[in-house]
Amino acid sequence: MGWSFTIGRIAGTSIRLHFTFVLLLAWIGIADYATGGTAAAISSIGFILLIFACVTAHEFGHIMMARRYGVKTPEVILSPIGGIANMERIPEVPYQELLVAIAGPLVNVVIATVLLAFTGVTLSGMTNMNFEAASLVERLTYVNIMLVAFNLVPAFPMDGGRMLRAILAMRLGPARATEVAARLGQGFAFLFVLLGLFYNPILLIVGVFIYFAATAEEQASALRWFAHGLTVAHAMERAPRLLAQDATLADAIEALLSTSQRDFPVVDGDRRPVGLLDREAMVSRLETGGKDLPVAHIMATTATLHEEDPLDGAVNQLRMNRAKAEIVVGRDGRVTGLLTVENIAEMMMIHSARPDWTFTSRAARR
Ligand code: ZN
Repeated sequence: MGWSFTIGRIAGTSIRLHFTFVLLLAWIGIADYATGGTAAAISSIGFILLIFACVTAHEFGHIMMARRYGVKTPEVILSPIGGIANMERIPEVPYQELLVAIAGPLVNVVIATVLLAFTGVTLSGMTNMNFEAASLVERLTYVNIMLVAFNLVPAFPMDGGRMLRAILAMRLGPARATEVAARLGQGFAFLFVLLGLFYNPILLIVGVFIYFAATAEEQASALRWFAHGLTVAHAMERAPRLLAQDATLADAIEALLSTSQRDFPVVDGDRRPVGLLDREAMVSRLETGGKDLPVAHIMATTATLHEEDPLDGAVNQLRMNRAKAEIVVGRDGRVTGLLTVENIAEMMMIHSARPDWTFTSRAARR
């Protein structure tokens, strides 16, 4: 997901902040400074950092549970609705997804329970708490309870929505379950936007966020289920134009103009990949001169895919690497194709127009 930046790493997972989360923090900080001065701003920023720690702990609840089922999580994005752990894949078995979804809010239940024991306040005492006059621990308890309650709303992609999808998947199968859960998520998004307009502008931001997240999740899921059973060879562009390692920027521009390709595999004398050069890199280097610049100096290193790799894994790899294209090699390690986001989008268009369409493999003949 765009609009986020990395702030640290824990146990192989990058922690990224979504800009709307920062916006929320800034807004609260500024509002408190305006009404209560520096001391109020410092105390509210300290409080925000504690909330931030609880949200992160929540996410690591999901991440640790997913790891039990062999699913790694390269990154987690913290947003106003509690963060999204960007897992490598969704656990295949619905009950595993259910447990992974539950593990996050469960962390906040544990935190809230410990804090409640610490303050001696009862849960019913919490409901008529005066937030302004309450102690830091009481307020933090309240936040953890709210985190649980909010995440249990069955608005996909929030945890409640994921739980719902997992339960639906047990009966309807994963594709249909995602569709139903995403629709419901979009419905909740409209409701939040509507409530936000009249009551609380934060709900407006949350609503917009949920809408886009639900839509993205639905598309990603549709892609996964369409790609299931296909290989990279079914989707790749066969025999792309290649650039030799010692080619110049002028050669690359010539290749760009004489083909419809945007990404060019750079290969050694044995047609094995050494890098990938895209249109943006060419054009930006052209501005600073140097037509004779070797392409080897401007190409990007790239992950390669194998013709026989499952397409759903390859799609995931493109997404994780934030890549628009990746080089495909055959059994002998030589370049045979190029898999681009556009190829996949075209196949999706054909698939949605004709779900029964049979795609043929373009693997190199041996
Ligand atoms: Zn969660």
